[in-house]
Amino acid sequence: MVPTRLLLAAPRGYCAGVDRAVETVERALDLSEGEPVYVRKEIVHNRHVVAELARRGAIFVDSELDVPRGATVVFSAHGVAPTVHANAAGRQLQVIDATCPLVTKVHSEARRFAARGYTILLIGHEGHEEVEGTMGEAPDATRLVGSVAEVAHLDDLGPSTPLVYLTQTTLSVDETRAIIAALRTRFPHIEAPPKEDICYATSNRQAAVKALVQQVDLVLVIGSANSSNSNRLVEVARDAGVASHLIEDEAAIDPDWLDGVETVGITSGASAPETLVRRVVDWFAARGTSLVEELHVVHEDVSFNLPRAIRRRLPQVDTPRSATH
Ligand code: SF4
Repeated sequence: MVPTRLLLAAPRGYCAGVDRAVETVERALDLSEGEPVYVRKEIVHNRHVVAELARRGAIFVDSELDVPRGATVVFSAHGVAPTVHANAAGRQLQVIDATCPLVTKVHSEARRFAARGYTILLIGHEGHEEVEGTMGEAPDATRLVGSVAEVAHLDDLGPSTPLVYLTQTTLSVDETRAIIAALRTRFPHIEAPPKEDICYATSNRQAAVKALVQQVDLVLVIGSANSSNSNRLVEVARDAGVASHLIEDEAAIDPDWLDGVETVGITSGASAPETLVRRVVDWFAARGTSLVEELHVVHEDVSFNLPRAIRRRLPQVDTPRSATH
């Protein structure tokens, strides 16, 4: 059976931080005059984006220690720990830092609270690059909390310990709310970050899926397996009782998923380019699904300036993008 309708969530796909990071690598390649451009880790968590930039000449490495002395390196949107900057300086690397400004904000909060003697409870996923970078700002003052159950393990913290919670930017809004509630119950004096750490793009894409599930039988989320915010979108749909799958691209669609499905909801994680959405729509069109509609839930108007290391090398006529967030 062929679905009769596709409903595309809006907003979906690229956020301002990913857009900026990808353009940063593209501009670095344009400006490189043939010199190699290294990128530490995946610039954003999407296989297609990384493959395309590699095809254009970017050299992806796992560590700043893998970059030849004096060479140019781009740091990814997820942010890095101060030790990474120190290693880069020690190797005289030309650093272009594409850390999302909203991740940088969390780093600043971590530094500020740690300097004031607080213990930071960082809500996030162990091993995620963003978490490693944020914890690196104040490693001795930061504890990672991954779930409500883990709150019970914070036995050694008492009412006299100054506490603040911070969060990874790409978490489930609902799950994080539950963890914060558990922290507040256990530590009534715990302080909140001055401004919400889960970013606008994460919240908006989850809100769009919550609206989408009211109208569809299946939700396909386009994104890579290591994309935190994409995985959260799948969870949001499933939590609402709607079948959902994370797909890298149209090749991952299993026709068995479409049995009895009339309307397919489609969204994409913050690191997935719109070209992949078009490919999925074309996949369905080739099988006879011609009705394609959009569900507009939140309007986004956010953009960030490119990193200074890029802007100062651009010709004067190239006006930097305005920051609206
Ligand atoms: S998901 Fe949010 S924090 Fe992450 S790069 Fe995008 S805007 Fe920045």
